[in-house]
Amino acid sequence: MKKMIGLIMIIIFYLVGIPLFIGLLFGGGLEILPGPAKGIDVPDTVDVWLSDEKKVVEVDFEDYVTRVTASEMPADFDEEALKAQSVAARTYVMAKIIKYEDKKPESHPKAPVCDSTHCQVYKTEKQLIESHSEGWEKSFEKLKKACKATEGQMLYFDGELVMQPLFFSSSGGQTENSEDVFSGAYPYLVSVSSPYEEGASHSNEKKEFSINEIKKALKKTYSDREPGTISINNIKIVSRTAGGRVESMQIGEARYKGTEVRNALGLSSTLFNISFKDEQVVFTSNGYGHGVGLSQYGANGMAKEGYKYKEILMHYYTGTQVY
Ligand SMILES: [Zn+2]
Repeated sequence: MKKMIGLIMIIIFYLVGIPLFIGLLFGGGLEILPGPAKGIDVPDTVDVWLSDEKKVVEVDFEDYVTRVTASEMPADFDEEALKAQSVAARTYVMAKIIKYEDKKPESHPKAPVCDSTHCQVYKTEKQLIESHSEGWEKSFEKLKKACKATEGQMLYFDGELVMQPLFFSSSGGQTENSEDVFSGAYPYLVSVSSPYEEGASHSNEKKEFSINEIKKALKKTYSDREPGTISINNIKIVSRTAGGRVESMQIGEARYKGTEVRNALGLSSTLFNISFKDEQVVFTSNGYGHGVGLSQYGANGMAKEGYKYKEILMHYYTGTQVY
């Protein structure tokens, strides 16, 4: 019996003790990661609806994530920003796959995701190389490495997969609460500062419109309202959101949300001011995109400041974890 216990002790030492010792010696401590949350079954492939060709293609799951990352973020961005984008893209597609089980998207019922901005942009490697200038492949190799480094990792809030890992190009300094832009509120999509966006595109972008152009665009896009006679005296910003973006505007006799004005006039963001110049209305906007979630230029700025991808993600998606 004693011999038996001794033997078991030796086996346990070899099975547990030695790997633990080696782990401590070379790993600098043991990090126990929970792995994908319960109920999340990461597939090997994902079906993608090609909007132009109107057909479904089956793509390797991680290849899909890499190609979306390359389609959605400039490959010459910092490696940590690319890693953050890859985690957001992976979480996004996983969330779409889960939702697909309950409800098929109206515009592409045959696949959980499409290749356009309706979901996230997906291009094949050939399309990616063709759409960039010569020598881009080098940056693409760096991007592939960044995606590989986050393989399988996604964003979680309270142990549940983040279902709305939204991202956009640049914020102009502050992101938005989800409910101020879209209909739903999410605890991880709240307004945060985005301090490192120098050099982002679309800063202080000016677009001029005549009153007639504004009236035409609004009536065309929102025929439910009649602004009546518009003059420079009745075009006003009425309120702003927590993130400083235009929440509502008075234009003539009608009210419009900032998002509606942006949409009708094709502005880059709802973070804008208005001024008047010779009967023209000048919209000066900052940032590009809806402003909710991860700012890509902000992520690149944080990476350049030395932040790692998990810190970047946890900054833009409040209260989340990456694993
Ligand atoms: Zn879609």
